[in-house]
Amino acid sequence: MPNQVTLFNIMKAEKFSGKDEKSTLIKKQKKRTDKIISFLIYIVFLRVLYFLVPWYITLVLKYLDPDNIFLPTIFLMTSLISTEICSNVMFGSLYCLEIPYFEKKKCSNEPWPWKTDQEKWRKDFKKILLGFFQIKLFFVPLFIFVFSYFAPFFKITLDDIPSFPVFCFQVTLKYILDDFGMYWQHRLMHLPFFYKFHKKHHEIIIPITIADTHLHFVDFLTNVIATCVITQMAFGTNFPLISHVASGVLATWSAEEIHSGYEFDWSLANALPLSVTPKYHDDHHSRNLGNYGVHFQLWDKIFKSGQSETPIEDFSTKK
Ligand SMILES: [Zn+2]
Ligand SMILES: [Zn+2]
Repeated sequence: MPNQVTLFNIMKAEKFSGKDEKSTLIKKQKKRTDKIISFLIYIVFLRVLYFLVPWYITLVLKYLDPDNIFLPTIFLMTSLISTEICSNVMFGSLYCLEIPYFEKKKCSNEPWPWKTDQEKWRKDFKKILLGFFQIKLFFVPLFIFVFSYFAPFFKITLDDIPSFPVFCFQVTLKYILDDFGMYWQHRLMHLPFFYKFHKKHHEIIIPITIADTHLHFVDFLTNVIATCVITQMAFGTNFPLISHVASGVLATWSAEEIHSGYEFDWSLANALPLSVTPKYHDDHHSRNLGNYGVHFQLWDKIFKSGQSETPIEDFSTKK
């Protein structure tokens, strides 16, 4: 028969396990609510693009001939660059303002790079900015070349804009397929021969938004081939320009966000199941191996390359 002390301990254990269950349940509910909010943000984001892209097409068509071979390039390039500018302004403001609420959402416990060694940061920042403009100088002629070639495949008119559900489906499908290409491009870049081209991206140990475009031009070029060209060839004429541009904007925002250094409970980058979170990609930067997915963890799970599935000793090989 249990004595009084044992009974007291049993009651205490039950009380604690009850508390644990309750807090696990609350955490689960919060996670579910955050996912729903993220998904609603995703739909609102697509709805805004569904309105903005045709408006932008109308605006450009006022000044350019619809048969102009550079038209798709102009649409896509200006849309992507505007997205980069918006995300850098938004996250740049958060870095400068240091609002306690957002600072609590930092992925890393390490201070921001400009807090530890200002001199080194100034040099690194100059290097990042220079790289950013180099990519843009390379980016412009490359897109002019590639998309001028593919221009006949795009539908430039406003007559065949899909319905909103079809648009959402097309954008999401392209987003997933592009990520498949990016996953393999990224994995390839981590092979010893190609790593010399990817090393530049890994110079940034604690990512910030602008680090997303800190790429060697070979890394950038193979990324473009793995995404835009392959999926565009797969879709052919069945993929309208509006969905193509919107998918590019979504992918750009998402890639900038996973490099932001902040992990928000609800965010665009976390809207779809198995999304790559900033923390997930931070782990890739800090360990330099594993977690190759850019938008989805799905490919890492399928091809067993997630950090949780790779022996820890493997991570010491590249620095
Ligand atoms: Zn990498
Ligand atoms: Zn990265």
